[in-house]
Amino acid sequence: MVYEQTPTIFKKTVIKDQQEIISTNFRIYFIDYLKLSSRLHDKSRKLVHNALMNGYVYIQTKNLNRLIQEYVRLRFLNQNSVNSKELNNFREKLLQNPEFKSIYEKIQAIWEVKKEEFDYTFEIDYKKDKDIKNSFPPCVKEIFSKIKEGQNLIHTERLYIVWFLNALKYPEEEIINLFSNLPDFNRSKTGYQVRYAIKKGYTPYSCKTLKTYSSCMAKKYKDDLCINGYFSRKLNVQKQIAHPLFYVQYTQFVSEMNKRRIEKEKQEQNNE
Ligand code: SF4
Repeated sequence: MVYEQTPTIFKKTVIKDQQEIISTNFRIYFIDYLKLSSRLHDKSRKLVHNALMNGYVYIQTKNLNRLIQEYVRLRFLNQNSVNSKELNNFREKLLQNPEFKSIYEKIQAIWEVKKEEFDYTFEIDYKKDKDIKNSFPPCVKEIFSKIKEGQNLIHTERLYIVWFLNALKYPEEEIINLFSNLPDFNRSKTGYQVRYAIKKGYTPYSCKTLKTYSSCMAKKYKDDLCINGYFSRKLNVQKQIAHPLFYVQYTQFVSEMNKRRIEKEKQEQNNE
């Protein structure tokens, strides 16, 4: 981005004998402009709708903010590919701006609370040779049990199970096969519905939503984690499960930690 002391006039319009002169102190090399504007959907950001002279796009001050925002977003997004020292310097520079600092600190505070959920992060995606059904929450177990017994599912249960399994990256065919036990099963119709539901890309319902649909089965299954929650190490309090996917993550995490502890104890006994 180039700043010039003397503004450049890049457009003159005449409406009803009134002449309007548009000038700016800012210009940006067109390749850099394209990098910043390529993800902005506003038509006015297209190169053809902007003043281009000698390879530079002339930008009015009022249109600069969005480009700067995009520049910052891309810098942080690409942080893995950027030298971390360079990124830290960039962050320090931004933090000198009090408004940025205040927003940054607010986001950081929210992230600190959220982050503890990721302390239990564990790879839970579908793997052909690993059955993770034991880690499924009661609301999902109930649907599996209904399917096994050949009972019909209501619409919300069908959507929920598709989105839930899709979030765990279950293959489409596996999801379709799951429905094959239902009384109204039709492979091509179910295939179409499953693909459509997946394409919608929704995340599975949260516990709160499932409760409103009376699909929360915590009490029926007397599930300790769902009823009593889990201990948050970060906040030092007992917390309730908010999402069925977190249930899977937490259960898998705890089981893996127990497995590792037992292996370590065995190893220590062998070394004695
Ligand atoms: S608390 Fe959440 S995860 Fe547990 S059964 Fe109810 S809806 Fe499912």
